[in-house]
Amino acid sequence: MQTIDKFNFAGQKVFVRVDFNVPLDENFNITDDTRIRAALPTLKKILADGGSIILGSHLGRPKGVTGKYSLKHILKHVSTLLGVETQFADDCIGAQAKDKAASLKPGQILMLENLRFYAEEEGKPRLADDASEEEKAAAKKAVKESQKEFTKTLASYATIYVNDAFGTAHRAHASTALIADYFDTDHKLFGYLMQNEIDAVEKVMKDTKRPFTAIMGGSKVSSKIEIIENLLTKVDNLVIAGGMTYTFTKALGGKIGISICENDKLDLALNLLRKAKENNVNLVLAVDAKIADAFSNDANTGFSKADEIPDGWEGMDIGPETEAIFADIIKNSKTILWNGPTGVFEFENFTHGSRAVGEAIVEATKNGAFSLVGGGDSVACVNKFGIADEMSYVSTGGGALLEFIEGKELPGIKAIRGY
Ligand code: AMP
Repeated sequence: MQTIDKFNFAGQKVFVRVDFNVPLDENFNITDDTRIRAALPTLKKILADGGSIILGSHLGRPKGVTGKYSLKHILKHVSTLLGVETQFADDCIGAQAKDKAASLKPGQILMLENLRFYAEEEGKPRLADDASEEEKAAAKKAVKESQKEFTKTLASYATIYVNDAFGTAHRAHASTALIADYFDTDHKLFGYLMQNEIDAVEKVMKDTKRPFTAIMGGSKVSSKIEIIENLLTKVDNLVIAGGMTYTFTKALGGKIGISICENDKLDLALNLLRKAKENNVNLVLAVDAKIADAFSNDANTGFSKADEIPDGWEGMDIGPETEAIFADIIKNSKTILWNGPTGVFEFENFTHGSRAVGEAIVEATKNGAFSLVGGGDSVACVNKFGIADEMSYVSTGGGALLEFIEGKELPGIKAIRGY
């Protein structure tokens, strides 16, 4: 397989799939350009080599052509960051796109309008809610058929395909996976971002230095079942934190007051505890909690044992004893995965636990551990605490990262390297 650092793009036309699905405010200003910046090394390398770029991305979840989701909103910013005037084609498979792609000169770049303006990108028909089963089946068949032509057109613009959109790697869409079939092994490759993401996850899951500790936080155990189950076959320590703690604590007979809890997942929690024991995994639960009498930053607060939370109070973060236990485990680890905050970190009064976990990971990383942070809110945490640069790797992927860690094959990765 070709790798981007060794590849020379001189004279090539390169279709680059990026994930420029950035948040915009009501005036269409970009409020966080992290995803654009993350793709710059790949784009700059291609242009510097003397290649030209046809850039494809989605933005939002449009149900057809929608001005709100036009990639035009971000065009100027992309040009500024790249230092190259970026051209635009306002229909990704229209005649204008074909002409502009055909006349690109080395060092030039063309951005295509939102690929998801076409249902063919996702390969899912767009139907009225009251469509009959027959209509649904016929529409599904039709969109799968027209998806082939759509994909072929996108592929026809380029001699090389580069996928740098890790955020959508878990989707088998036209531009993220199917397009790769139109390029042979020597003409398709990962961009730097994609390669770095893959390397980081494989370092944690396959080339593991022990002890391996995963810290799983966030609100609900139900959204993390598969990842926890896979981790239970890989880790030495599984630290459970955040709102999901209380489903475990209640399942074990503890008093949790009005803490967030999934009452239909109590058996599942007991099952996970049993599996941990069978696999010799040290599953660690909070022993104390910072509690509040309302779900608010201004609520009255106190501390209690995690399994003795008074009626009318809820666990909003871990307490100091738990912080010390978690920090000790983390500092003695050589591989660390952090997904999800230990508490309601959006409220200033309940950030302490997540900060303590973040700081322990910083220390472990300084002492040679490999730390991977990813999957949404823990990334927001490390950014909020100003410690993102002190982690070994901070992933840009949400769902894609979680599925990769669950051990699933990601279509965007498989399409290029075959597995
Ligand atoms: P997730 O998307 O599953 O990673 O969950 C992240 C969310 O979990 C954040 O918005 C936190 O505020 C929330 N969360 C963490 N701890 C708690 C808690 N003890 N009670 C309620 N929500 C929590």
